[in-house]
Amino acid sequence: MRPFSVNSLTDGKQLADIGTFESSRFLAGGTNLVDLMKHQIETPQHIIDLSRWDSANNIDETDDYYQIGAMVSNTDLANFAYQRKDLSVLSQALLSGATVQLRNRATTGGNLLQRTRCYYFYDTNQPCNKREPGSGCAALDGFNRIHAVLGTSEHCIASHPSDMAVAMTALDAQVKTINTKGDTRSIPVRELYQLPGDTPHIETVLAEDELIVAVKIPKKKRGTQTYRKVRDRSSYAFALVSVACDLTLKDGVIADISLAFGGVGTQPWHAASAEDFMRNKTASSSLYEQAVDLELNPARGAGGNDFKIPLIKRTAAFVIQQAVEHQMANPGHQGAIHAR
Ligand SMILES: Cc1cc2nc3c(=O)[nH]c(=O)nc-3n(C[C@H](O)[C@H](O)[C@H](O)COP(=O)(O)OP(=O)(O)OC[C@H]3O[C@@H](n4cnc5c(N)ncnc54)[C@H](O)[C@@H]3O)c2cc1C
Ligand code: SF4
Repeated sequence: MRPFSVNSLTDGKQLADIGTFESSRFLAGGTNLVDLMKHQIETPQHIIDLSRWDSANNIDETDDYYQIGAMVSNTDLANFAYQRKDLSVLSQALLSGATVQLRNRATTGGNLLQRTRCYYFYDTNQPCNKREPGSGCAALDGFNRIHAVLGTSEHCIASHPSDMAVAMTALDAQVKTINTKGDTRSIPVRELYQLPGDTPHIETVLAEDELIVAVKIPKKKRGTQTYRKVRDRSSYAFALVSVACDLTLKDGVIADISLAFGGVGTQPWHAASAEDFMRNKTASSSLYEQAVDLELNPARGAGGNDFKIPLIKRTAAFVIQQAVEHQMANPGHQGAIHAR
């Protein structure tokens, strides 16, 4: 690891006092950034430690929204969401991620901004456009079983690894930020990430000096919620594919649906075309299959990950079917299918 200096923030507003932001990184739980620094993939000269920013550990609730501080741990957020029927999908997604120890340490802001798990990104002996722009992409002709099939480019096919961000996408959460000038803004999670295109090293719309302060989830009438994650092991493994779904049925018609996919996209994937196709139509297995086919139409495998296309189609159709059946048996149901 290269030498670096450290500043601590005790309040987001103190960011303005930091001055120059060149070669700086925010350190939250450190479960991703510290690894990247050890491998010299990230070599910041300056670290802004967020661990003393106490007010960012709060979760606030009003009649209209939940506001989750950036430093709320994945464990605390999962426990909070577990007790709210309208956040069930978030609790399921968080509890499917990593391990208890990691979730105790990992934060809401850090989880959203964690980097890809592409093997070649972590191997500094290999070409990687994300790590070193213009060097090439070892994954294209390499071992690409875990890589993305949606939103890829000829420069990068890395998948986004977060489970939580997939649920946040389905729930249409907003990220609140502040920068070193004190400017604040609110960005829908659905617009936070950038497709790799020919600049895969630029992953989000955030500026380098922009700090995530909180994530806001609107309160609205929600339905049956599921997060289904398919992975190589039942614990301690990233998603091969995952589906977050919130579905409301009225008189056999899909009145509302939010759908997002994990493991298959270069960003948490909002399945907007599939949602639009199904909304206000009578529920049937051919409807879900057509909707998911439509969403997956642009999907392209790179060889080792071709299996993800039929796998996500089957998983999504299964999740939707299950939610529909549950709503039929329990009209007006809100929350997880199986109370744990
Ligand atoms: C072995 C292992 C298994 C894992 N399995 C899973 C899994 O199954 N599913 C899953 O979703 N995740 C998994 N993870 C990833 C884990 O969830 C992330 O490492 C964690 O959420 C990152 O949060 P953090 O607070 O530690 O972030 P850090 O490592 O501190 O930071 C990550 C990035 O976010 C930036 N950042 C942090 N906070 C802010 C902020 N407030 N504003 C702006 N930038 C910020 C940092 O500068 C850095 O670039 C796994 C990790 C490991 C090591
Ligand atoms: S897929 Fe992206 S992260 Fe992986 S080697 Fe290629 S450019 Fe790098």
